[in-house]
Amino acid sequence: MKILVLNCGSSSIKFQLIETDSELIESDTDRCIAKGGVERIGTDEATLKVTVPPAPSVSTTEEILDHQTALTRAIATLKEHHAVADISQIQAVGHRVLHGGERFTAPVIIDEDVEQGIQQCVELGPLHNPHNLRGYYVARKVMPQVPQVAVFDTAFHQTMPPHAYIYGLPYSYYRRYHIRRYGFHGTSHRYVAYRYRRIFGKAREEANLITVHLGNGCSMAAIDKGNCIDTSMGLTPQEGLLMGTRCGDIDSAALLYIMSKDELNLHDMSILINKFSGLYGISGESNDMRELEDAAAKGDAQAKLAIDVFCYRVKKYIGSYSAALGHVDGIVFTGGIGENSPPVRAQVCAGLSEMGIQVDPARNAAVVGKESEISTKDSRVRVMVIPTNEELLIARDTFRVVRGLPNPH
Ligand code: ADP
Repeated sequence: MKILVLNCGSSSIKFQLIETDSELIESDTDRCIAKGGVERIGTDEATLKVTVPPAPSVSTTEEILDHQTALTRAIATLKEHHAVADISQIQAVGHRVLHGGERFTAPVIIDEDVEQGIQQCVELGPLHNPHNLRGYYVARKVMPQVPQVAVFDTAFHQTMPPHAYIYGLPYSYYRRYHIRRYGFHGTSHRYVAYRYRRIFGKAREEANLITVHLGNGCSMAAIDKGNCIDTSMGLTPQEGLLMGTRCGDIDSAALLYIMSKDELNLHDMSILINKFSGLYGISGESNDMRELEDAAAKGDAQAKLAIDVFCYRVKKYIGSYSAALGHVDGIVFTGGIGENSPPVRAQVCAGLSEMGIQVDPARNAAVVGKESEISTKDSRVRVMVIPTNEELLIARDTFRVVRGLPNPH
């Protein structure tokens, strides 16, 4: 089955065309036929980029004023480059949806009732859910006969127990506004946990894992026998680890202090903690780990401090999730930094041998962007690098939901 996976933002659409079915999933040979994106939608300088491997990427700049035109152009380009002979070959669409609140614990076919449910979660995910819904509306217009499935970033974390998701606020805020930890990157955590079990031939019950997704946004999950029991992001993707431009965990009173000192309003404060903090805020120069690693190597003290804070925070969460799980079989690094930065992985895991975590320096240094073990032969806890593939899991989920098959991951 050819499935179009869509991730729709305010002025962008990212897409992948993936061929999958039960046999391909079983043999792990389902694959991306084409991928691409449209950016700067709403302008006369929108860019449309499509890659149909093994051919090189093609890119055009043109006027694309709305998302429906963007999707129509993207599909036309897929046809031009022979990824599909005709639009009718696309048999289902899988949408990445940021927030599913407490209602959505698994992928679902979008019908009127589900659409309303996603709408109700707009308050919780105001920056993403409206655009994710817009992706659904335009795909329904362009492909009216095709089933559309929503795959939620929050769903995997819905197995968390109340003691992990309730904040220390008056309980009425949970009742009235659903203020609680939800967690994000769920599809990524679920995918790498599945890959870990697949690589080592383990059942869900046989692997307790700490998954570490380090990209521009960063989060971790504690996975007990296949079920998420805690995660570092919260009501929003702001909580937890230090990120590219987000501050992560902070004394909430520090924000009130800054607001009163500098007379900042809510909007100013939101920009400060989301766009000007994290690696960027501490280093004062970049949110890009590669640039910070280069600068630190040349003696830049602020860049080194940003990396130190970043790695220390991950290490602390490994400690707390080890306690939460009681027994850890594996730690998995993923995301742009987790997959590609041996120095970060080494710094995070340094000094954890008492906890059974030992990274082999030579193995670690050799692993950039590929699936491989980086722990020593004696390490009680296996440390792995597993590149994430959220789109593949969205395509698989979409296939299973459309066919009414159980979802084993
Ligand atoms: P997003 O969360 O936007 O999907 P990615 O997962 O692509 O982002 O991660 C982006 C981060 O990965 C950036 O900080 C980038 O510097 C970092 N990164 C990518 N390649 C490397 C590398 N070789 N070494 C260190 N960091 C890297």
